[in-house]
Amino acid sequence: MVEKVYISYNHVHKLCQEAAEVIKEFNPHLMIAIGGGGFIPARILRTFLKKENAKNIPIQAIGLSLYEDLGTDTVVETAGLEVVRTQWLDFGAMAEHSVDLIGKNVLIVDEVDDTRTTLHYALSELEKDVQEQAEKLGRTDEVTKFFIFVLHNKDKPKRAQLPKEMLDSGRYLAARTVPDYWIAYPWEAKDIVEHSAQAIKQGND
Ligand code: 5GP
Repeated sequence: MVEKVYISYNHVHKLCQEAAEVIKEFNPHLMIAIGGGGFIPARILRTFLKKENAKNIPIQAIGLSLYEDLGTDTVVETAGLEVVRTQWLDFGAMAEHSVDLIGKNVLIVDEVDDTRTTLHYALSELEKDVQEQAEKLGRTDEVTKFFIFVLHNKDKPKRAQLPKEMLDSGRYLAARTVPDYWIAYPWEAKDIVEHSAQAIKQGND
């Protein structure tokens, strides 16, 4: 029985290329990549989402970590696990460059949906932030839409949920739904040659 699944850079690239065909329909204005696993998929997606004679889709980075218990004020409890924001959007800097999320189609990118805790936290906090900003600017009539993309969704009971409306309307996309094995991504490899060889052996190239 395979317990560790090796994924090559080629495979990540192909999954993003395939997913971009679906994501194009959503017409994202900007991406929010959850670090560090969402960074490389987001960058690859941008290549395939680029429209001729149009600007590249901007990518903003956020960082989240899961902890059992840290006992600090910066921790927010989500479905039994605690999420720490290690990096968040700088709304001040974004405003200076005339970028905001209000009324936009926002694509959230991560590498894997495991317990769903991270995605649930990211989405609900971003929704709260947008609501707050829209109220401040008197722009609550503008509709902001979120779409979540992950390379892999693990087929297992989740600790947190995403809005039913998001799932039903096709604004959640996992390139592959896989059994609950550990997935080894290429950017974590110490020996990329050996890693790629394992991925090829498993048919994940
Ligand atoms: P969550 O449980 O919140 O859905 O996932 C939290 C994070 O755990 C993911 O963003 C990812 O960084 C990490 N993670 C969970 N399962 C795996 C896995 O199979 N492989 C790797 N490399 N990271 C994982």
